[in-house]
Amino acid sequence: MHTAMLIYIKKFKDVGLRPEDIKDIDDLTKLPFTTKDNLRNNYPFGMLAVPMKDVVRLHTSSGTTGNPIVLAYTKKDLENWARLTARCLSTIGVNENDVFQNMIGYHMFTGGLGYHYGAELLNATVIPAGSGNTRRQVKMFKDFKVTAVHAIPSYMFHIADVCSEMNIDPIQDLYLKKGIFGAEPWSNSIRDRLEDVFGINAYDNYGLSEMSGPDVAVECECKGGLHLWSDYFLAEIIDPVSGERLEDGEKGELVLTTLCKEAMPLIRYRTRDITILADEECSCGIKHPRISRLLGRTDDMIVVRGTNVFLSQIEDVLLKIPGIRDNYQIIINRDVMDELIIKVEVTKDIFNDEPFTLLALKNRAENELRTVLNLKTTVELVEPQSIPDGPGKTKRIVDFRSI
Ligand SMILES: [Zn+2]
Repeated sequence: MHTAMLIYIKKFKDVGLRPEDIKDIDDLTKLPFTTKDNLRNNYPFGMLAVPMKDVVRLHTSSGTTGNPIVLAYTKKDLENWARLTARCLSTIGVNENDVFQNMIGYHMFTGGLGYHYGAELLNATVIPAGSGNTRRQVKMFKDFKVTAVHAIPSYMFHIADVCSEMNIDPIQDLYLKKGIFGAEPWSNSIRDRLEDVFGINAYDNYGLSEMSGPDVAVECECKGGLHLWSDYFLAEIIDPVSGERLEDGEKGELVLTTLCKEAMPLIRYRTRDITILADEECSCGIKHPRISRLLGRTDDMIVVRGTNVFLSQIEDVLLKIPGIRDNYQIIINRDVMDELIIKVEVTKDIFNDEPFTLLALKNRAENELRTVLNLKTTVELVEPQSIPDGPGKTKRIVDFRSI
């Protein structure tokens, strides 16, 4: 018996689950979750469900500390993977008339090779450019009349700078029409800029190496959410704290079960990505349900008075208010009820202005936070450089409840 089965059997036994308990799709919620730790702790091949002789490719995640996650593929897994990336590209309009420059890292990262084979399956002309060497990338855009790209969004802005150094106008002198972008979070305002600078349609995709690669979901022409390929992945949304399954349209953590994976099938895998799943008709005609663009990561979440609060939500509200700087700290006190205090720096001008200006700004921030978070908060506006700088959740959040 393969080790992956032993691991799952142990997990099922731990929760007292027997084979006869699983009769239909609703019984899925009885199955325990699989997590990144399960994969890490069974490094390298503990989660394999086939003999090693059937594994034809390995990738790994980019684990910066400790063991990475190993991803294994059978021949069939690779065919399915190519089929799914082809489906993603076809959804954004790539076909045999396109010249497709794939500017995502090849090697161990799943983004490069994943889309390479998908584009070939569509009979597009594929340029396996990989990342880096920007002048050469731009020269190929021009000389090979590239029409479609796959890239990290921020890299495209670097390309725009290099275009201007090379006296190339990205709209007049190039032939780009569409692009699929991912591998880092990017907002709709970045989309607008990308589309303006290059004269293209820019689409988001979603995926994770644990499923195969960036092939789980993609935006269609409507750009109103990403169609998730429900014939390959069974998607659920759960409350990240209680683990309870949530209704269609509710925001929570995406949990995926692979339906076709052979080498490393995963049952109820917790992606740690926060989104909304909705099975509504889309005007593009694709029948697969849609997830919203990612709304955060469970690592960025705190629970206050029973409500899940994401740092990204707080940041979104604060950064839209003129006069407020991007340095903030969240303090949670427990008195009778949890109290959420948000300390945020304002610009020097505002801080030195009339007290009335500060009060108006504080009221505005509190009102807007209340609307978005559904929680009353106390905003304290402080002078510039008074909050210690530092990235990451630990510095941003001071939680007196856990002390
Ligand atoms: Zn659609």
